[in-house]
Amino acid sequence: MADCIYLVKLGELTLKGTNIRLFEKKLIDNTKTYLKHTKVRIALRAGRMYIEGDETYAEDIEYALKHLIGISGWARARICEKNIDAVKKAVFEEARAAKEAGVKTFKIEARRSDKNFPLTSYEICREAASPVCDAQLLDVDVHRPDLTVHVEVRERCFVYGNAHKANRGLPVGTGGKGLLLLSGGIDSPVAGYRMLRRGMSMEAVYFHAYPYTSDEAKKKTEDLAAVLARYALFMRMHIVSFTEVQMRIKQAGPENWSTMLLRMCMMKAASAIARKVRASCLISGESLGQVASQTIENLSVTESAGDIPLLRPLIGMDKEEITETAVAIGTYETSILPYEDCCVLFAPKHPVLRGTLEEARLLYEKLDCASLIEKAVSEREVKTFSVQRDKN
Ligand code: ATP
Ligand code: MG
Repeated sequence: MADCIYLVKLGELTLKGTNIRLFEKKLIDNTKTYLKHTKVRIALRAGRMYIEGDETYAEDIEYALKHLIGISGWARARICEKNIDAVKKAVFEEARAAKEAGVKTFKIEARRSDKNFPLTSYEICREAASPVCDAQLLDVDVHRPDLTVHVEVRERCFVYGNAHKANRGLPVGTGGKGLLLLSGGIDSPVAGYRMLRRGMSMEAVYFHAYPYTSDEAKKKTEDLAAVLARYALFMRMHIVSFTEVQMRIKQAGPENWSTMLLRMCMMKAASAIARKVRASCLISGESLGQVASQTIENLSVTESAGDIPLLRPLIGMDKEEITETAVAIGTYETSILPYEDCCVLFAPKHPVLRGTLEEARLLYEKLDCASLIEKAVSEREVKTFSVQRDKN
């Protein structure tokens, strides 16, 4: 007999039309991937997902629900017999547990899709609230309660408290594949997460410039890929040594163009890797106006060097919004570790602010670095990360 059940509200996929089954199937498959080491039952009924299993799996299930993309919320529920006494008891238990956690006010919301149940939703609320009020456990507040106890009378009867918010979006694997330019900063992991939420699956590329960038900087980016893999289910990371390319830029390019030329070289290399791994776009963490290389003119220069679409999901977001997401998804702590990335070390004192496409093209051709880029791409190191629960 199972002793724990989770009710899961689906995300945006509920808006899908005839192809909804494909999205639902992907969501179930992704959920199973998180829980493959457990013996839980996963079912989808009437726009809801139910995960049911032994109490020992509760932590695994909650880990999955915190990271799964494509669901809008979840709650752990009590199952009770379909009679009002059992409902009253379950609501009382819920209220008592909440009081211990500091809750002071509550209300009940009842839904009765089984119309054979003898009480109306209103009557269920009234009946179930009275023992909690009589025992002076919690006060009723119908407008802004600390706790809403939900009672759902369906094929079975569920009672649960406040639902947890989830990642929303569309299930990973329903939106094609992108290649994320992942640096050690705050922005690019957030850019990756936002495209995962649009259903993309993802690989990542990191440009390393040892010894100018340290092994710690590389390790930091690997750690970020590992965090993203919790949402992506699986993440392959391509580590490209760009030391020779950087040296060439330093020797041959004018100093004020060094960041922009590096950007162009990254776009070339990333496009080549995307073709190899069948990714149909690149994803970067650029945001308009954030730094000199992200003026609209310079963004156009960067983009001109690639040959597949470049998605910039953060383009209209400010740093505060981006940081909030980084904190929420668990990448922030790693991103702020102090190891510099290659762009910072090679950054010019007076970077070009409004590069023109003509000048960019001429300077890039003068670099003559196609074979260096090709070599760097073919010698890249590949690491893989899969979803796993942290036990620390
Ligand atoms: P981030 O916080 O993501 O590092 P940033 O604000 O520091 O971004 P830049 O350093 O100008 O901005 O980089 C812009 C984007 O270019 C990054 O968001 C990332 O997508 C990509 N990028 C920069 N450096 C690297 C790198 N070493 N390897 C892979 N991609 C990179
Ligand atoms: Mg950076």
